[in-house]
Amino acid sequence: MDLLKKRIQSDGLVLNDSLLKVDSFLNQQIDPVLMMKMGEEFARRFQGEPITKILTIEASGIAVSVMAGLVLKVPVVFARKKKSVTITEDIYYTKVYSFTKQESNDIIVSKQFVQEDDKVLIIDDFLANGEAAAGLANIVHQANATVIGIGIVIEKSFQPGARKLTQAGYRVESLARIGSFSNGQVNFL
Ligand code: 5GP
Repeated sequence: MDLLKKRIQSDGLVLNDSLLKVDSFLNQQIDPVLMMKMGEEFARRFQGEPITKILTIEASGIAVSVMAGLVLKVPVVFARKKKSVTITEDIYYTKVYSFTKQESNDIIVSKQFVQEDDKVLIIDDFLANGEAAAGLANIVHQANATVIGIGIVIEKSFQPGARKLTQAGYRVESLARIGSFSNGQVNFL
């Protein structure tokens, strides 16, 4: 998606050989116009799929997911991150290792919000090792619901997440795919 790539080129900050900072439009300040266009693009790519729900993870997946949900006219559920959870009957939970924070979190979703007949589109802001997306897919499977696909805003294709998820049989649609960082520059695929 050219608009997103241009924005990454102009406003993104390459922090090291694997980390990109996009706080000015995605991770802290949010550009609603860009979010809407990305929501429309996810809706276009998954057109014709019987999606009943979008599942994302707090916090940075929420804005773009809400826009996609608005276009697709489906509810948006976000998984919450917790240091550790008391396991109760009414939640799905799984462990996710955070690439940016280098720590494990439990992520939880209330059982009432993902049901067996749901056809779920998973959306997240970044794809690195695939932990967050796989964790969300795990929750969908716990509910005996169906994963329709995984929509990612920025895929770092030089990290193993996209390959792992594709090999596991998921359809992954990424709006920008980064092949490498070199000398502070972002090289797209
Ligand atoms: P994964 O679970 O695929 O290893 O990493 C994806 C998660 O880590 C995303 O939810 C995102 O919050 C965070 N993340 C991974 N790589 C980056 C990055 O380069 N920049 C930012 N801002 N977040 C990232």
